[in-house]
Amino acid sequence: MTTFVFRDDPYVTTLSANVTGVTPAGGIVLDRTIFYAASGGQPADAGRIDWETGSVMLSDVVHPDGEKTAIVHVPATEHGLQAGQVVTLHLDFDRRLRLMRMHTALHLLSVVFPFPVTGGSIGTEKGRLDFDMPEVPADLAALEAQLNQWVDAALPVTTEWITDEEMAANANLIKTMKVKPPMGQGRVRLVRIGDIDLQPCGGTHVRNTGEIGPLKLGKIEKKGAQNRRVSLLFA
Ligand SMILES: [Zn+2]
Repeated sequence: MTTFVFRDDPYVTTLSANVTGVTPAGGIVLDRTIFYAASGGQPADAGRIDWETGSVMLSDVVHPDGEKTAIVHVPATEHGLQAGQVVTLHLDFDRRLRLMRMHTALHLLSVVFPFPVTGGSIGTEKGRLDFDMPEVPADLAALEAQLNQWVDAALPVTTEWITDEEMAANANLIKTMKVKPPMGQGRVRLVRIGDIDLQPCGGTHVRNTGEIGPLKLGKIEKKGAQNRRVSLLFA
């Protein structure tokens, strides 16, 4: 099992770790990691792994076969690492911070557009959510102003854990839940933003909404009779 350090502290940028295995294709498995694997619309992190006699850039970070409790670091070149070696991880934090800012901003977007979310994608320049939303709200300028008001308010972003049983018993208390929580691993992580949003999420977020910076609503595209794709950009 790999310890997901980014889950408890997404601001760790370098970390010492031990190689616990190398896949037949050369993928590096570690006892702990700061690299997020592509999941839930958030892309994989970038960065490099160093050791005493070498270094390798990562071309991808993945959950093997959708196994969400494991992470494989895909190397850009051959490396010769073996289980038992000690390595140092270096995260491309400029890129990650932009992803954390946009990811957190999309939580806010899901509050100003109170419709079921059917999909989403997070990038370093912009993000989007797909809503089951037959009509586009009339006053988009007011929605954009609301987003920026929450950014200015620097609302705290915190996490809490509940058991699968608590999740099942209290689902009705989580008013803003948009997606079926990732149950089956014994516990579920909830992300809370001030008193405006609470939803299950396994991604990386900034500490408070002030770190997001000014936001701008982008295009709203029709993607079917009920579906609208809403883009959000850094202003
Ligand atoms: Zn999230």
